[in-house]
Amino acid sequence: MAVPKRKTSPSKRGMRRSHDSLAVESYQECPNCGELKRPHILCSSCGHYNGREVVSVEG
Ligand SMILES: [Zn+2]
Repeated sequence: MAVPKRKTSPSKRGMRRSHDSLAVESYQECPNCGELKRPHILCSSCGHYNGREVVSVEG
């Protein structure tokens, strides 16, 4: 089995991990109710998507 010849240095380990952080989630205002919602996702407060009500929200 192939085994690394050298221990990964702290510098190389940091370079690899520089891409590991999670991206900040983006939000947009719902055009129907104005609540913040994730883009391309049904609004969780009014149930609208693409200008029409897809799911009715009780209450
Ligand atoms: Zn909405």
